[in-house]
Amino acid sequence: MVARLPGIRFSRVRFSAARWERAYRRMVRSAFSQVPFYRDQWVRAGRALDEPLPTPCADLTGQLHRLCPFAEPYDPGAEPSPWIGSAGDLRAVLVTSGADGRAPVLEVRRAMLDRRRLGLSRRYGVLLASGAKVMHERRRRELNEPALKLAATAGRAVVVGEREAVAEFLPALADIETRVVTRAELTGAGQNDLVHDPYLGYFAARAGCGHVHLLWRRFYARVVDGGSLAVTALLRRRPVLVDVMPDGVVTLSRCPVHGTPILGVTP
Ligand SMILES: [Zn+2]
Repeated sequence: MVARLPGIRFSRVRFSAARWERAYRRMVRSAFSQVPFYRDQWVRAGRALDEPLPTPCADLTGQLHRLCPFAEPYDPGAEPSPWIGSAGDLRAVLVTSGADGRAPVLEVRRAMLDRRRLGLSRRYGVLLASGAKVMHERRRRELNEPALKLAATAGRAVVVGEREAVAEFLPALADIETRVVTRAELTGAGQNDLVHDPYLGYFAARAGCGHVHLLWRRFYARVVDGGSLAVTALLRRRPVLVDVMPDGVVTLSRCPVHGTPILGVTP
């Protein structure tokens, strides 16, 4: 029986800072005991550390095999890249930003993804932006047809992506009811709806109160090193991401309306 890393599932449970901290501590203990990337930090330090050294996201490149538990190593020949992103995280940011509902979700990406639904009932399609990895432009248009057809059939769509990338598709969606949900990395959080990182995926979203809410059921965060955000994915077992830092200087506080963690981007 493979030991599983702990997760937290307390939907409908109110935010508790103490419980959130305990969930982080459980992830830290599991990471040090089960995951080479973190275990090696003890080896280099020559002692047991209380918490991992925060790692800039850019330094995670090429580390996938070391970020998976010893007992469940990553096998690139037998499984898709774990960096493709979690459907659950995308669903959660859409709920936070008020873009839940039944309209199909079209996500602008740089590569195709064999995903047809978000959850049980919501249809999902990929739009390849210009500059995506395809053989030629005609092929890109062919690959985009199913998602555009999905939207046309439903008569509505939620389109998610970087602002410029989404704009490219708006003429093709002009005849249907379209809601645009923009995303950016942490440094662009102030002007966009969703916060996305190539490694962490979607981890925060602007809610109706106007504040950028961290998905606290899914991620723990603390501010380190003069304002960097160190983020821990609480529900993810492969790869295990503890205290990884997206670019940007932030503040972390509580929403005056909701009482849960929000991010402020410092210019
Ligand atoms: Zn709020």
